[in-house]
Amino acid sequence: MNNKIFCPQCESQEMREEVIHGLKVHICDKCGGLWLDKGELNGIAHPIEGDLEYCSTDHFAEDRVSDVKCPVCKEEKMVKVNFIHYTDIILDYCKKCHGLWLNRGELDAINAEIDRLHKVPESWDHRIMVFLSKLPF
Ligand SMILES: [Zn+2]
Ligand SMILES: [Zn+2]
Repeated sequence: MNNKIFCPQCESQEMREEVIHGLKVHICDKCGGLWLDKGELNGIAHPIEGDLEYCSTDHFAEDRVSDVKCPVCKEEKMVKVNFIHYTDIILDYCKKCHGLWLNRGELDAINAEIDRLHKVPESWDHRIMVFLSKLPF
């Protein structure tokens, strides 16, 4: 699909395609917002076990309707979701097309959070495993 996507926050600002981490996303030059089609968040974030988008969409509440309208579905209001329930990173999610809207800096926050998830619980397990595997018996 080659439809034009206009920034849901800057109204008449057309978003341009940009390749980040090998994936095509839409970016707004004016506000720095990012639009991700369904499935793109899983590819854009650093590799992590499980489905990131499932984490996100599992925790939306009906009363958390966003002011942002989906740039693809036009009239469909998006809902606010927490990126993984305990973080305070709030994204806008379209229930219709499953796209995600990220404000400037939110992708960095997501990547930082994923890095943290990777480092904290896994490094100890991994180190213990390496330690055990090197024992001479
Ligand atoms: Zn914008
Ligand atoms: Zn939509």
